[in-house]
Parts: sequence; C-alpha cells; structure tokens
Amino acid sequence: MSCPFIEEVIDRGRTSVRDGLARTPGRHPALSALPGPKEAEVDTVLLQLHDLIHARASEREQIQQINAFAVEALGCDFSSTFLFDPDREVYHLAGNIGASEHVQREFPHVEFPKGSIPILDVLEPGRVIEIADAEKQDLFPVVLLKSLHVSSLLCVAIDGRDGVVGALTYGYRTQTGAFTSRQKRLATGIARIGARIIDNARLVESYRRASQIKSEFLATLSHELRTPVNVILGMSEMLLDEGLEEPLADFARTIDRQGQTLASMINDLLDLSAIEANRISLEHEPFDPRTVLEQTINAWAETARTKNLSLSAQVDGPLPRSVVGDARRAGQILSNLIGNALKFTEEGSVEVLLREVANEDGTSLLEFTVQDTGIGISPEGQERLFEAFTRVHAESHRHYGGTGLGLAICKRLTALFHGEIAVESEVGRGSKFRFTVRMDHPTADGTHDHDGRGGPLQPQISAATIHRSV
Ligand code: ADP
Repeated sequence: MSCPFIEEVIDRGRTSVRDGLARTPGRHPALSALPGPKEAEVDTVLLQLHDLIHARASEREQIQQINAFAVEALGCDFSSTFLFDPDREVYHLAGNIGASEHVQREFPHVEFPKGSIPILDVLEPGRVIEIADAEKQDLFPVVLLKSLHVSSLLCVAIDGRDGVVGALTYGYRTQTGAFTSRQKRLATGIARIGARIIDNARLVESYRRASQIKSEFLATLSHELRTPVNVILGMSEMLLDEGLEEPLADFARTIDRQGQTLASMINDLLDLSAIEANRISLEHEPFDPRTVLEQTINAWAETARTKNLSLSAQVDGPLPRSVVGDARRAGQILSNLIGNALKFTEEGSVEVLLREVANEDGTSLLEFTVQDTGIGISPEGQERLFEAFTRVHAESHRHYGGTGLGLAICKRLTALFHGEIAVESEVGRGSKFRFTVRMDHPTADGTHDHDGRGGPLQPQISAATIHRSV
C-alpha cells in the first residue's frame, strides 16, 4: 500500500527536478558547462521531458520514457540506457527505443560485463563522447553496432548522487558527420534529468524496502509478544478466581488491567504492521449492517454506564437488510471511534448514526457518524490525528492512556473499504467522526432489498444502559 511518506519523497524528487530547470531559465546545471546561444530553447525542451515523466511509474518505465523522448528531441534513430550493477560488475541494458526488434525483445535480459563496452568505462560526468564513424572505433563492440545498424553515436554518463550509475547512448544510422552543439547540450541535459529520476526512483525504492522491513519486524515482534502476554492474562485470571485477600487481590487486578492494556497495544501494532505490509484482506460475507451497530453499541454500553454517559444509536433512513463485506473490520473502526468518544467525554452523550449515502453499481456506501460532547480537538490536532502514534492531548495522556494507533488503523482500514474518514471538532464542545465503507450488494443482478425504516435502533440490552434518541 502506498505510504504518505513515500508519496512525499516522490513529489519532492519531482519538484527538485523541475525547480532545477525552472529556477534559472537558460542556466540549468545540465547545460551550464556548455555555453551557447540557444540554451533557453534547450531548457524548454528539457522541461517538456520533465513534465512528461510519470513520477509514479516504475524505474524501467521512466527510463523508457526518457529514451523515447531522446529519440524525438535529438532526432536519433535509437536511444539506449545502460545501468551499472557494481555488485556484479555488469551493465544492464535498462531501456531501449529504436533498436531492432530482436534487441528490443531481448533487452530486459541483456547484460554486458564491465570492459566489454569500453566506451562505458571511459565516461566522465558531463563529458559527451562522440563516435562519428562508429564502425572504425573500438570503443563500441562492432557486433553490437552491427546489430544496431548505427553509423554514429553520442554517449553521455548518467551521473547520479553517488557517482556515475550508467550511460545514455544515442545512435544515428545516417548521420556520420560531427554533432551540433545543440545535440550535445540536449544529450547531456537528458542524461542529467535521467540521473535525477534514477536517483529519486532508487531513493523511493530504498524507503519502500525499509518500510517493508519495519512492518515485518513489528509483525514478528508483536506476534512473539502475544504468547507471554496471554499467559500473564490467563494466570492473573486464575489468581482472581482464587478469592485472594487484599492487598493480594488488588495486585492481581493491577496485573490483569495492565496485561489487558499490553494485549490491546500488541493487537494494534499487529494490525498496523499487517495493513502496512499489505497482509490484510477483507472478508466478503453477507451481513445485516444493523448488527454491526448493535453489537458495537452493546460492547460499549457498560463503559458508558460506568461514566454516566448517554450512548445512543440511530439508523437514519432506509438501510439495506443485507450487504456483503467485512462486518468485523467495519465494527473495529466503529468500536475504536466509540471507545475514543467515551474516553474523551466526561459528561453528556455519545450519539452514533448509520445511514446509506449511496447505492450504485451493485454497492452500498454506508456512513457511520460518532458524535460526542467531550473535550474536542484543536485544528492543529485534527491535522495529524490520523498519523500513527499521535496523541493530541499529550499532557493528559497518562490520564487517558492509549497507543495513538487507533485512528491510524481506522484510516487505513477505511481505505481498504474504499471509504473515507474525517473529523469535525471544537475544543471544549466535542467531536464528530464520520467514516464510510463500501459494501457489495448480495445478489449478482444488483437487486437490493431495503427496509424502509429508519429510526432508533433496538439493541438487545437493557434500556437502562443505552439512552436511545427518539
Ligand atoms: P489512542 O486513543 O489510543 O491514543 P487514537 O489514534 O485512537 O489513539 O487517537 C489519537 C488521539 O486523538 C488521542 O490520543 C486523542 O488525543 C485524540 N482523540 C481521538 N478521538 C478523540 C475524541 N473523540 N475526542 C477528543 N480527542 C480525541
């Protein structure tokens, strides 16, 4: 799944390439070493290349876009990108436009050991090597030249952040004379942009890998922690059943309480890491959406009663009797929001609303709203609310407890449901969380059985524990 941080890296890299070109028109670093009257024109062409590249495409796709652009802009017959693999000391033909069908078909697998294409080993950053009469040179293997049918070549190093990472070669089948300074400036400029793009793609890839490793580490760790915590909980329960005298009973209750907290933190960590590692898939089972509301409200009724808060649930308008999706995960999001609402409300009410906001193409978009009269969240707090490990009320964290992972999990889960989550809040007046989940209709032909009723829910618990809105 996409990670906001990685998205930011992609965007930053993209902006830095554009900035480099736009900041000093006619003086892009790619061209600064090559004085000439038509620098601005060359810059304009290079800006077109920048705008063409798809920041979210793979490294290979981006390289192919560069090669295709080079063929157009330089008027050459083929453009090839070689990238060096320092571990194996080989060049890969990483991209190729315009070569024969045979080379084209083979290129993803073609490798050249270091030294086999001498021109690649003599390249220096910023230097253009021209081979005007290719067949007479020994810098490029004749067999390769023959298969490419070229008579002249331009070759430029791709100078990445950590030095030369490869080369771009532009081949001509008919041009044998000297290259123009415009051609050379463009050749260097395209290679510079290529270098930035390759750097950026590699950076993104290394963040992706690091993020994957972190998620796997968290998943393993939380999994390993589960067993001892379950043993602690089991033992504390047995101790409590023993009818211990005070203060021993109090000790056992504390162990049990802290064990429960630890277990829920571990579950949150497991959930978050599993979602980030793309290891969660949603169930696809039919269920009545009312039961999600009913069961979740029932689970929190006792907490509401203990805090003397009013907890009500209402279905607004007609709702499908049955939808297909993951009732447990939808309930998990709702439960988290109701738990927070009760936690951060000292007096007043928590009201939960369920309605169908859209019904199209064989799916229902269901919206749950949880409104409380609690302490509220500042505008700055609202901005980072759905990031992992965020506690907006840090000063009172000891009082409220919590991992700061609940809303991050909710956000990722709603995305899995193709839904959204949002908050409106005012400090001192309360908060309103709203999330949507998309569920399928149960029948293949899309027919859909609605019950016409809205109104307060009739949960299967005593009226004393839930105040219903009427
Ligand atoms: P946790 O509640 O476990 O700390 P969450 O991700 O669920 O983690 O919530 C993050 C933070 O958002 C909370 O610590 C709290 O500061 C704030 N918050 C969440 N829900 C509410 C709410 N209903 N009212 C006020 N603050 C809230």
